[in-house]
Amino acid sequence: MSQSVLNTLEEPIERRHFLFRSTQTILSATLLGGMATYGADASGMIASHDALVSTGPGDKITLTPLEAKTEQQKGPLPNPDPIDQRVGYAIVGLGHLALEEVLPAFGACKKSKVVALVSGDKDKALTVAKQYGVSEKNIYDYQNFDSIKNNKEVDVVYIILPNSMHAEFTIRSAKAGKHVLCEKPMANSVAECEQMIKACEEANRKLMIAYRIQYEGNNTEIKKYVREEKYGKVKNIVAVNGQNIGDPKQWRLNKKLAGGGSLPDVGIYCLNTIRFITGEEPTEVYAQIFTDTSDPRFKEVEDTVNFQLTFANGMRAMCSSSYSHHQSRNYRIYAERAFLGLDPAFPYHGIQMYRSFAEGDMEIYEMPKRSSENQFALEMDHMSDCIRNNKKPYTPGEEGLQDMRIIEAIYLSAQQNKPVQLKKYDGKDLFRGALPEK
Ligand code: NAD
Repeated sequence: MSQSVLNTLEEPIERRHFLFRSTQTILSATLLGGMATYGADASGMIASHDALVSTGPGDKITLTPLEAKTEQQKGPLPNPDPIDQRVGYAIVGLGHLALEEVLPAFGACKKSKVVALVSGDKDKALTVAKQYGVSEKNIYDYQNFDSIKNNKEVDVVYIILPNSMHAEFTIRSAKAGKHVLCEKPMANSVAECEQMIKACEEANRKLMIAYRIQYEGNNTEIKKYVREEKYGKVKNIVAVNGQNIGDPKQWRLNKKLAGGGSLPDVGIYCLNTIRFITGEEPTEVYAQIFTDTSDPRFKEVEDTVNFQLTFANGMRAMCSSSYSHHQSRNYRIYAERAFLGLDPAFPYHGIQMYRSFAEGDMEIYEMPKRSSENQFALEMDHMSDCIRNNKKPYTPGEEGLQDMRIIEAIYLSAQQNKPVQLKKYDGKDLFRGALPEK
């Protein structure tokens, strides 16, 4: 009940009357949308309050915007699908990403719901199950996981485990007849990626890599500008993704579990996002690695990787990933008539666009702000849409495999201290599937 409606009450009323009148107001307002001749309710409170519009049970609900058309628009209401019609997900691994981002994101999903949990810690799984309304019978551990094949509620397995476990759980999920959404990096080697694709193909199941940035609005807008050459051709891109990593004992600093250091964990955002916004594939990489091995964090994996990408159309990119400097996640695109980019570019929230271009005797520097969306909800709903409509996901296994080919070439280049050539491809978006729905 808004303050303005409260203020229209002429005299203090008891709470039960207030509740009755509140309900009556909402009902009346709802009816108003469908029946133009219906008048104000007895209190007269809603005579000019036509913000609630509903067409009937089961229909999509619309609301008349509160703001003028000159204000930033919010877009339509989410109107999620009824819960019993949504695609069911099993979440494997209840660590930081699962608990901080993915599970809460189901609240913003329209087509996806969480129905099962897989964890090595039964007590944690029971607690999380209660928090998110997951049935106790749908809790699995890593040993009995394969029996998930008998669970008809589970359509998709979302793998949120250390990188070295992605291949094993993708293959086990496919064998259990489940579709797979797998976190980045897809795996620790090209060979593992190929096995994962094969397993999903053989089981006729979909495989999507959780490249959330490819579903995010600001990055998608930048992609549009680049593809349409709004500011001319892109000449160069500079991208950085780094953070100061903590506990030396964590799996990210263990070579066997992580596959590498900052490159497959955060450097992959620079690589994947540049491939996404341009649609192009690099033809050559040249890289250097900088690691202080006296730092206890870097006994097994690398710290900083600087790598240059060369493209067939003459475009270049300079990228840097690091585990030892303050968090910085940004990129700048140098085009013929503007520079533009995102800073920050890769966090879960608060992505910010900027662009600078000339108009007459002025240089215009803008920081356009979009209303934010939940990136994990967008990517999960895309996966669900692909399952329902039998489409190839926009970021399928092949997309993760191509990143891994380039990552292996980056390591080779740094090791040999010389450029490494990559296979040349004609055309754009060669490893992507169906575009995400609007
Ligand atoms: P985390 O360490 O917080 O969670 C990992 C989970 O795996 C934990 O629940 C842990 O108990 C479990 N696990 C099972 N076997 C394990 C083992 N042998 N060693 C360590 N943990 C084991 O990690 P996280 O940050 O949630 O990352 C998980 C995956 O998600 C990684 O592949 C990571 O790259 C990816 N990730 C993606 C994003 C993104 O934005 N898309 C962000 C963070 C992490």
